[in-house]
Amino acid sequence: MTWEQRWHPLRREWIVVAAHRQHRPWNSEQVSRTERALPEHASDCYLCPRNPRVSGARNPDYEGVFVFDNDHPCVGPLAPSELAAPPGIYRNRPASGVARVVCYTPRHDLSLAQLDVPSVVRLMEVWQEQYRELAARKEVRYVLVFENRGEVVGVSNPHPHCQIYATNFVFKYIETELHAGARHLAETGRVLFQDVLAAERQDGRRIISEQRSAIAFVPYFARYAYEVYVAPLRSVTTIADLDDAERRDLATVLRDVVIRFDNLWRMPFPYVMALHQAPVKGHDGRGFHFHFEFHPPLRRPNLLKYLAGPEIGGGNFLSDTCAEEKAAELIAAGGRHYKSTDVA
Ligand SMILES: [Zn+2]
Ligand SMILES: [Zn+2]
Repeated sequence: MTWEQRWHPLRREWIVVAAHRQHRPWNSEQVSRTERALPEHASDCYLCPRNPRVSGARNPDYEGVFVFDNDHPCVGPLAPSELAAPPGIYRNRPASGVARVVCYTPRHDLSLAQLDVPSVVRLMEVWQEQYRELAARKEVRYVLVFENRGEVVGVSNPHPHCQIYATNFVFKYIETELHAGARHLAETGRVLFQDVLAAERQDGRRIISEQRSAIAFVPYFARYAYEVYVAPLRSVTTIADLDDAERRDLATVLRDVVIRFDNLWRMPFPYVMALHQAPVKGHDGRGFHFHFEFHPPLRRPNLLKYLAGPEIGGGNFLSDTCAEEKAAELIAAGGRHYKSTDVA
């Protein structure tokens, strides 16, 4: 059993790995494993083709990927621009930006893991197009693409989709990674993420998927049980920098990872997926390496990882599991998606 501290070089913080605590008595919320059968089109889904949304707009009869402005944006062009100044040292500013929703497919009953490779490649192209378009807006400093999947991360609508927040600020984790990358570059002349990749290859036990120009692994410093990073091998700062071959390889690896997630417990596997890219403005991105991060909240099929004293109170993660063991489980969960009806 692993019981040690692990340094997280991107966040520059310590992770306490205490895998021996995994089986201690635990009262926790049960997460249901039962799966409801979903229709291909749901009449009450605001993401399905032809259906009305809360704004009153009606979705087109779309095929493939469909993007629209979020009807309940947390950042948006309509955010009040005239604000009353708060007292003293307090500061405020308009929540300007753009929030969008990206439907992966018109099919209500599918998931990212059930799309074929060309469809995932097309989704990546849309992410690239969205990045370029949103980055060109003068108020936008950061483009965060993320997917929340599963009711345990607060998503009640199973229709496969992700969101984009194009914000006037740079997200905290990105700032942390930028500083770590810039410092490492200044000290060693090397890209930090390349040194992470080299260390992962040297060990090898946590690499769960690979193509010629892309890789997926459970990082040595994982904070969540089934945390996975997916990245191109070449250091690029944003998804827009990928060429055709890299996009295809990355799509193949990304799809393989989410298939493994679902196959693990033969259930739709909840996660938060985020694309970590360099900021649009205000930083040249030197030393930064674009990657996807998956943060799955479950430790076992019905057991949530709760963030509590050490994480919320102190800001450092206490991991109850060992990255090598969790990677081995994902390595063993490969092959076709468990719901696939394809003939091999
Ligand atoms: Zn739907
Ligand atoms: Zn990151």
